[in-house]
Amino acid sequence: MSNPTTASAELVHELVDANHILHHQGIVDAFGHVSVRHDRDPTRFLLARNLAPVRVQAADILEYAVDTGEPLAPDPPRLYLERYIHSEIYKSRPDVMAVVHNHSPAVLPFCIARGARLKPVCHMAGFLGGTASRDGPTLFEIRDHAGDASDLLIRNTALGAALAGTLGNSRVVLMRGHGCTVVAPTLRVAVFRAVYTEVNARLLLQSLPLGAVEFLTPEEADATRTTNEGQAARPWDLWREQAQRADQNR
Ligand SMILES: [Zn+2]
Repeated sequence: MSNPTTASAELVHELVDANHILHHQGIVDAFGHVSVRHDRDPTRFLLARNLAPVRVQAADILEYAVDTGEPLAPDPPRLYLERYIHSEIYKSRPDVMAVVHNHSPAVLPFCIARGARLKPVCHMAGFLGGTASRDGPTLFEIRDHAGDASDLLIRNTALGAALAGTLGNSRVVLMRGHGCTVVAPTLRVAVFRAVYTEVNARLLLQSLPLGAVEFLTPEEADATRTTNEGQAARPWDLWREQAQRADQNR
């Protein structure tokens, strides 16, 4: 019988798939990471060791304590410096079951240009806005917490807690000069949101030079989110198949 405190093999494999999908969708490169809350113990989460996501296999997945952001097993391998993004969000948001952190390229301008807002412009990205988040994702300014000489990384629990505070109850938080962090109630929806955050950012950048941009109303954003996220299995199956095919040719 399997140890009840060990995460299910299904969840570990889903996390491996998520790592590969995010790579092949251009959301992560050598950097960025994805985690999922443990399915048998909500005080733990699963995250790979320090490795480019496309190279992650089941044996690279470690269990971490939500409380500390540290791995449970002794003598761990090298770890992601920014694992506290994940631990502190799981700590402050019991509803969050998965977290993606990335530096996807079209999102970065919205973490750089003062006053730019990443509000939803297409129906696949309604989760970026809605009646609870009318102005789109908030921008985390690390200088407010770490001064003006940090390396911009979330490298301890205090900075993780500050980031979780800026995220609040929303689904995406932008990080000035750095990237973004996306949360969701399932791993598949977290991957979906990370991909469509990038798509929406690209569409917005392409539309801005053409004329005044029409954003979704908060009500349209809520309605499209409900419809599309109920279908998160469809893109997941496609992207997983594409990733598996690409991995075979790697
Ligand atoms: Zn980062």
